[in-house]
Amino acid sequence: MNERDTEQVLSMFLAGGYDITQDEEKADVILINTCSVREKAELKALGKMGLLCARPTAKPWVVYGFMGCMSQSRSNSLFRDIARLDIVTGTHQYHNVYKLCNRLLRNRLAQNIQEPIRKGAHICAVGHEDGFQNEIKDHLPPAGNCTAFVSIMQGCDMRCSYCIVPSTRGEECSRPQADILREAKELVARGVKEITLLGQIVNRYGRDEPIVNGRGAFVRLLEALHEIDGLERIRFTSPHPIGFRQDLVNAYTYLPKLCSHIHFPMQSGSDRILKLMLRPYKNEKYLKLCEDMREARPDLAITTDIIVGFPGETHEDYLQTKAAVERIQFDNAFIFQYSPRKDTPAAAMAEQICLRVKEERNHDLLECVNRIAIAKNNALVGTLQTILVEGPSKNNPARLQGRTSQNKPVIIDGGSAQVGTIVPVRITECTGFTLYANVQQ
Ligand code: SAH
Ligand code: SF4
Repeated sequence: MNERDTEQVLSMFLAGGYDITQDEEKADVILINTCSVREKAELKALGKMGLLCARPTAKPWVVYGFMGCMSQSRSNSLFRDIARLDIVTGTHQYHNVYKLCNRLLRNRLAQNIQEPIRKGAHICAVGHEDGFQNEIKDHLPPAGNCTAFVSIMQGCDMRCSYCIVPSTRGEECSRPQADILREAKELVARGVKEITLLGQIVNRYGRDEPIVNGRGAFVRLLEALHEIDGLERIRFTSPHPIGFRQDLVNAYTYLPKLCSHIHFPMQSGSDRILKLMLRPYKNEKYLKLCEDMREARPDLAITTDIIVGFPGETHEDYLQTKAAVERIQFDNAFIFQYSPRKDTPAAAMAEQICLRVKEERNHDLLECVNRIAIAKNNALVGTLQTILVEGPSKNNPARLQGRTSQNKPVIIDGGSAQVGTIVPVRITECTGFTLYANVQQ
């Protein structure tokens, strides 16, 4: 979601005549989009901005800004941490970032500033704006991108006891279906082949709308996207067991463009911990949904998020999580050590787990997840797959990289396939998490 928000801001700078650079020395505006989900992410962003603001630079006029979740939750206090910081914009203000930065930069350039600035401009924009979710429509120009993210909703109305998102991202709010379809069609006209729909609980999209012929608003959106000629692949992230109805399970049987991968956060395999997390479902419901989806789409790859070391998590609770991982045989999983977040109920719970135990459980579960993931990849060697060729491989630009419908990265020899096309390949080998393949003529 942050990637998507960053894209929107960058596209507004491009439209305003700016260029994008990864080189800090060249930049006149430096923005960091921030995540607050875990403390580590906040510390990283603060550390990076601290270093940037303190470095000697030939451009004393540079505008420094924080965007996103950490700005929303820490707002003005960020100027106390980093005096040279200029702009702090919250999660409802992405569409205003360009305007604020551009104005400040133009002023500074007009003043012909030569001396290093010690105190920034301290502009703080973290207010809520009605209808802001309808402003999320700008995309970066094609640059060969054949995949794109589309935000279909903002915010979250759940109150998972560990999670800061509801306080940084605000109330759940869906975009109108017509806007989403228009955006998707524009993307396809520019060469996009694969769209990933984004929302904190995507399957709750349009939940106030009526059920029509047994289909809720989210499945109806998937069906409408499926009709778009030239759109080859549809993904979404993240679904939640709440409001995950049979219509979405069934969608896997009759929507072939819907990819054979779902990232479906489980969080814990213990009902006791799920209850403390205020996740309103039992683990059995989660497991049954996974199994039902696999029945609907036998090659479905399932990945997940798991938190270890939630307050009060006993060894027994942890073993239940591990057992759930073994039962579902996830294709992969992100494992997070519980991180106490500001003003969340879990942070105030008495039985906080010590770092050593969190690390032990993390390590142990990672071994289990990796073993299963590698075995699943090994089983693909020799099989035929279709991949969407996305661009040069990061490690070896002479080769191309694509993804299977199951979202597994595949490296192929360059030259034989074109970026943006879907090609059949035979998997020849796999090392750890990467698959290698030959293009089939
Ligand atoms: N809306 C999604 C999750 C978004 S946050 C959902 O409900 O499934 C992404 C992931 O970060 C979560 O799935 C969770 O596993 C992890 N996470 C969130 N808060 C956390 C915290 N305080 N400590 C550790 N991990 C956390
Ligand atoms: Fe956070 Fe829970 Fe909302 Fe996901 S559903 S964003 S974990 S509060």
